Amino acid sequence: MPRKTEFISYKPKTILNKNKRADHWFWTRYSAYPYLGCQHGCEFCYCREQKFSPYDDADDFAYKIKVKENAPELLRKALFRAKTDLIFIGDYQPAERKFELSRKMLEVCRERNFPVFILERSPLILRDIELLQDIESRARAVVAFSIIHTKNSPNYEKINRIERLAPPPEKRFEAMEKIASAGIMTGTSMMPLLPELCDDDANLEDIIRQTADSGGRFVLASGLTLSDQQRAYFFNYLAEREPQLLSAYEECYPRGKSYGAVGDKWCRTALKIREFCEKHGISDRMPRPIIDGDKRAKNKRIVEIFANKVYNMELERVSKNQIWAYRKAAWAIEDMEQDIALLYRMMGIKGLEKVPDIGKSLAKEVELLLIEMV
Ligand code: SF4
Repeated sequence: MPRKTEFISYKPKTILNKNKRADHWFWTRYSAYPYLGCQHGCEFCYCREQKFSPYDDADDFAYKIKVKENAPELLRKALFRAKTDLIFIGDYQPAERKFELSRKMLEVCRERNFPVFILERSPLILRDIELLQDIESRARAVVAFSIIHTKNSPNYEKINRIERLAPPPEKRFEAMEKIASAGIMTGTSMMPLLPELCDDDANLEDIIRQTADSGGRFVLASGLTLSDQQRAYFFNYLAEREPQLLSAYEECYPRGKSYGAVGDKWCRTALKIREFCEKHGISDRMPRPIIDGDKRAKNKRIVEIFANKVYNMELERVSKNQIWAYRKAAWAIEDMEQDIALLYRMMGIKGLEKVPDIGKSLAKEVELLLIEMV
């Protein structure tokens, strides 16, 4: 007998998670989610890890959905005090049809003029497309779809099984097309690229081609994370359903190590992705959404340029010192309260050199970027 889903309503004390600064991947500074647990139940989902899941039994993750019934009110209060920045928000698993909390949280963002970023496997998000258009016109809205395979993949059925109740990838591409036609920036998050199942060139290129054909502007990719109870859970799944893959995964994920697709192998995959992106005219980085009139718009643009440089240097395997110099400079510029262009106008290059972690040579680089931006 299939297990029944249980919804557990409760009232948490907080809803908004705040990071010190925006990440260099999705560019989000905040996050807020209405549910704990996910009915889609993808077998690889890192949210089963102990630090994210409220359950000791990894199986409960897909069947016991905790519903934060006061999420919109909590968000309204939190945004009242927060500086405007991009929020990673929402969750369009089937529970959303019944509780509509993602929609209500988006309404709060619209009310407070906060930009939003949503990452989805479900086309249910189309229900709220007009609301997203409204947010896009006042602040910014970005919708990325998680897609790791296509109808053409030889592993199509296997990956559909692994993604359990998540709607198939062709539905996500159709939704992407509608989101793009509505004038909202969209793209694909190829996460997690499962070793031996979806990291082959043909599949990578097909996802990128279909993203471009559907109006997507970017893809982001990363490997699979397996930690603590989620590692045991996923290995059990492989043992039962895909035993031929066990030895390859044991090699990728040796006991005690949580990450697999890192190092030279991952860099080769990432460079292939870049090559396919160039061929199909999209980016392998998500363009940073910046609100019109943001007084720190130039700071944010320079941070984006430095962060992209860091990513390139990581793929080129340059020295860690060089990478850290740019990363720390990006953080320092992100942390500035002041408009960096104004600082430069008032104090020239000497002012730039005074910003922490910007030495003489990086100050020169920042100066050139500011001149280009005029
Ligand atoms: S849709 Fe996302 S959150 Fe839900 S189970 Fe799949 S990977 Fe996890």
